[in-house]
Amino acid sequence: MSYGIVTASYIGASVLFILALGGLSQPETARRGNFYGIIGMAMALAATIVGIVTNHHFILFAGLIIGGGIGLMLAKRIAMTQMPELVAILHSLVGMAAVLVGFANFMGNDAALSGAARTVHDAETYVGILIGALTFSGSVVAFLKLSARISGKPLLLPGRHWLNLLLLLAAFWLGGKFIHLSAAGGGSLPLIAMTLIALAFGVHMVMAIGGADMPVVISMLNSYSGWAAAATGFMLNNDLLIVVGALVGSSGAILSYIMCRAMNRRFIAVIAGGFGTSGGVAATDSQAEAGEVVAIEAEAVADLLVNAREVMIIPGYGMAVAQAQHTVSEITRKLREKKVNVRFGIHPVAGRMPGHMNVLLAEAKVPYDIVFELDEINDDFPHVDVSVVIGANDIVNPAAQEVPGSPIAGMPVLECWKGKTTVVLKRSMATGYAGVANPLFYKENTRMLFGDARQSLDKVLKNLG
Ligand code: NDP
Repeated sequence: MSYGIVTASYIGASVLFILALGGLSQPETARRGNFYGIIGMAMALAATIVGIVTNHHFILFAGLIIGGGIGLMLAKRIAMTQMPELVAILHSLVGMAAVLVGFANFMGNDAALSGAARTVHDAETYVGILIGALTFSGSVVAFLKLSARISGKPLLLPGRHWLNLLLLLAAFWLGGKFIHLSAAGGGSLPLIAMTLIALAFGVHMVMAIGGADMPVVISMLNSYSGWAAAATGFMLNNDLLIVVGALVGSSGAILSYIMCRAMNRRFIAVIAGGFGTSGGVAATDSQAEAGEVVAIEAEAVADLLVNAREVMIIPGYGMAVAQAQHTVSEITRKLREKKVNVRFGIHPVAGRMPGHMNVLLAEAKVPYDIVFELDEINDDFPHVDVSVVIGANDIVNPAAQEVPGSPIAGMPVLECWKGKTTVVLKRSMATGYAGVANPLFYKENTRMLFGDARQSLDKVLKNLG
C-alpha cells in the first residue's frame, strides 16, 4: 500500500474518532458514536498492518488473535457493574505499552542520531516511559479500589505533599542525567530509577484519593492513558497514534474538569489526594441517627405513586446492581398513563462511571426528555410529591450540606428531603461508596423500602393496577 493511502486512511480514521467523541456526548447519539469509533479503529488497524508493518507478520497476527480474543471474552463476560474496574485495568495496559515501547526505543538506540535530534528522541523516550509508568501503577490501584480488592479509604502518609514534590524533582533531575548519558551510549540507570519513581508516584497518588473523589481519578487516568498513547505515537513516529492519544488525553482532561465541578472540588486538591479528609470526620452514626427509621411496604409505595402528581426518580449504583432499570421504565410508563408527571434526577457521579445512569435508562427506553441533570431539577424538590431513591446513597446525603467535616462536605447532592415524601429503596442501612452515614434515612418524611431494588419494584409495579 502506498504511503499516500496510509496517510489518507489515517486522516479518515482521525475524523471518525472525532465524530465518535461527538456522538458519545449524548445518549441519543452514543450508539452512532460507538459505530464511528469501530469503523475508525478497523480502518486504522488495516492501514497499519498492510501499509506500515513490513516483517514479523506472524508475531503481529498472533498478538492480534490473542489480544482480540481476550477483548471479546471480557466484553461478553463482564457485567455492567464491573465496567469501571474493567476500564481502569484497560488504562493500565495503555500505560504498560508506553513503558515497553519506551524501553524498546531506548535499547534499539539509533547511533546515527546526534545533536538536537538525539535530545528530542531521548526526551520523547523519557517522557513516554514516565507517563506510561504512572498511568500503569495508578490504574492498577484504581482497579483494586473499584473492585473492592483493597479499601477505598484514602491512605494519607505524613508529609505526602512534600513526598510528591520530592519525587517530581527527582524525576526532573534524572531526566537531565539521562539525556546527558544517553548521548554517550549510556543512561539505563537514570531511566530505570525514574521508572521506579513514576510507578511509586502513581501508587501514592491514587492511594491518597478518598471514596467519593474516585470519579475524578478515573477520568484523570483516562486522560493520562491518552497522553501515554500520544507519547508512544511520538516514539513510533506514528501520526495517528499521536492524534488519537491527544484526543483521548484532552477529552479525559475536560471530563476530569467537569467531574471536579460536579463534585465542587478543585482539581489540584483532588490529585494532591485526601481532599476533605484531613482532620475531617465522617457523619457518625450518632449524628445521622437523629430520628427513627420508618419502613414501608411495596403496596403502600404503589398507593403513594398513583396518588401523586409530581414524582421524581433518583437512580444510583444499587439500580445498576439490581438491574432494575426495565422495571423502572415500566413503572414510569404506567404512571404517565395515569397522568402522573414522572421525571428522573441524575447526579453527575451516580453509579460507578460517568453517564452510568443515563446509559441504563436509555437501554430501558426511558424517554430522554424526562431525564434531568442535578442543576436542572434541584430547585424543584419542594414541588415534588414523591421522590423514589433507587439504590442511591451518597448522592442524596444531606451530610454534604449539614456536616462541615464530612468527606463529602461541599459535594452537591439531590435535595429530595425538601419534597413531600421520599421513598428509599435499598437492602440494609449500609453506607454507600464514600462510607458516610446518611441522615436522610432518619428524616420524618422518609420511608425505607428494604430489599433488592428489582424485587421491590416488581411488587410496586404489580400493585399499580
Ligand atoms: P452509593 O454507592 O453511594 O450507594 C449505593 C447504594 O445502593 C448502597 O447504599 C446500597 O445499599 C444500595 N444497593 C446496592 N445493591 C442494591 C440492590 N441490589 N438493591 C437495592 N439497593 C442496593 O451510590 P450512589 O450512586 O448514590 O453514589 C455513587 C458513589 O460512587 C459516589 O460516592 C461517587 O463518588 C462514587 N463513584 C462514582 C463514580 C462515577 O464515575 N460515577 C466512580 C467511582 C466512584 P445496601 O447495601 O443497603 O443495599
